Amino acid sequence: MVDIKTLVRENVLNLTPYSCARDEFKGKNGVFMDANENPFGKLNRYPDPYQKELKTAISDYKGIPEENIFLGNGSDEIIDLCFRVFCNPGIDRALTFTPTYGMYEVSAAVNDITVIRIPLNEKFQIDLPAAKTHLTDKNLKLIFVCSPNNPTGNAMNYSDVEFIIRSFNGIVVIDEAYIDFSDKPSFLNLIENYPNLIVMQTFSKAFGLAAVRVGMAFMNSAVIQYFNKLKPPYNISTINQNAALRKLGRTNEVRKQIVRIKKERERVIRAFKKLEKVEEIYPTDANFVLIKVKDSTAVYNKLVSKNIIIRNRHSVVKNCLRITIGKKSENDCLLKALNTISL
Ligand code: PMP
Repeated sequence: MVDIKTLVRENVLNLTPYSCARDEFKGKNGVFMDANENPFGKLNRYPDPYQKELKTAISDYKGIPEENIFLGNGSDEIIDLCFRVFCNPGIDRALTFTPTYGMYEVSAAVNDITVIRIPLNEKFQIDLPAAKTHLTDKNLKLIFVCSPNNPTGNAMNYSDVEFIIRSFNGIVVIDEAYIDFSDKPSFLNLIENYPNLIVMQTFSKAFGLAAVRVGMAFMNSAVIQYFNKLKPPYNISTINQNAALRKLGRTNEVRKQIVRIKKERERVIRAFKKLEKVEEIYPTDANFVLIKVKDSTAVYNKLVSKNIIIRNRHSVVKNCLRITIGKKSENDCLLKALNTISL
């Protein structure tokens, strides 16, 4: 079993976190003269630094105890915190399976951390033999697994990922931003068994709150304390906490939207199969599809000229386009344009 303390940066272990007014007095009623706020108005008070009400609602919905939940200003803040908690700048390393979500690499660079990139195999699955050679690297602190993966769309093989969590003496971060669109199992329940596992999810995708910036991380309580020490005291605004809370009161609506998006995904894939221009459609467990065409930049530019914006992923997967599933009318618009453009 990994001893988490040995993985945390020394300065983080020794850090005395900022103690804010809301840490000292937690009651709701009183005459508040402790935080230099303006006494007038509706949004005049600082938010709850630990987002208790929201965590209770997430805990009820996910069946995960509150003490295992950390919330960030989007998953992107959590990714950055992973580096800051565990990686000594200029010394430690992180590992990614490429192509994958670009923020792991950006956050690594911001924190002066070298990234080891292991290319996914021809099925966009983890190349386990290649990964194994790095698992004993003493300075390798973080392994990022994106499942379902962006931009390829597929979920990673469960037993490969579990093997990595079990065999690695560092932290494995599984990014499940797209898990609600997948029929494959989440890794969430494994946090009980593995203290070195962090599972990230977000309100930005299936929950339809990308503007709100609330990311979730589920982890062992031995790890969460370090994230709480490092985070800015009021990292999620009251407005954003409330927006996420309201959405958790309408999960039926979310479920219906997921069903609609998945149905549209199948319809769009069926339509792509009939298009000669589309050379390959990669299997997807997410709300987007990666397709291969002869010249992705040409297709991309023609679609942009018709005000249809997709993502050209040529720089990471040759001649591939990543297309987010939209509403029926939007998908029709894309399919019509793809049908009519000449190349
Ligand atoms: N993880 C993945 C795999 C993503 O694709 C994205 C956004 N495109 C994020 C995380 C970012 O999530 P958030 O909006 O919660 O920062």
